[in-house]
Amino acid sequence: MTECPECAAKEIQTEMKFDSNTKHFICKKCGLFATREQISDIRYRLNKRDKTREDKHDEYRDWWQSSKKDKQGN
Ligand SMILES: [Zn+2]
Repeated sequence: MTECPECAAKEIQTEMKFDSNTKHFICKKCGLFATREQISDIRYRLNKRDKTREDKHDEYRDWWQSSKKDKQGN
């Protein structure tokens, strides 16, 4: 199943319907109309926004710091 990324961002789990004529997924809840590629793009952007906004940012920084350390070590 394909979950609507827009609704998922609002913590509502909604399954999208696939329209085989247009090859687009449709969300009945928020009306999102997108191809599979567009959906993954939206999901990616929303993920990125969450990570910079919340304390997950520290995880990223830690990862970045340790990856830099790895590079220096080698
Ligand atoms: Zn939706």
